[in-house]
This record gives sequence, C-alpha cells and structure tokens, in this order.
Amino acid sequence: MAKDPVCGMAVDEKKAAATSAYKGVTYYFCSAGDKKSFEKEPEKYLGKKVEMGHGGHGHGGHGCC
Ligand SMILES: [Zn+2]
Repeated sequence: MAKDPVCGMAVDEKKAAATSAYKGVTYYFCSAGDKKSFEKEPEKYLGKKVEMGHGGHGHGGHGCC
C-alpha cells in the first residue's frame, strides 16, 4: 500500500486512480485531481506532513476514494 502524498490516504498501487513519477520516485493517488495538485507543487506535498483525512476534497463518507 502506498500513501497519497496529497491527502494522506492509503492507496493500493494496483488500484491507484493515478500515478506520477517525481525525482525517480513513483507516487500513487486516489484521484486524478490529487495527481494534478501534486504535479503543480510536488515539493509542497513532499515537504508537508500529510494530514489524515480530507479537508475540502469532498471525499467524505465512503470507505475508499
Ligand atoms: Zn487523495
């Protein structure tokens, strides 16, 4: 299981909605939107501590994204 660097959710590499390679590392995302956010400012997401849970993503409620 990988961790979505944008939202902190655990993402199954095989089921990831999107992936992105940055500095030789592959990152897995729960949604294409998170991938886009990451690609815009990768350092921001790699630098910050990933808070668990979604603020304004609207992913609330259901088990997986
Ligand atoms: Zn996510």
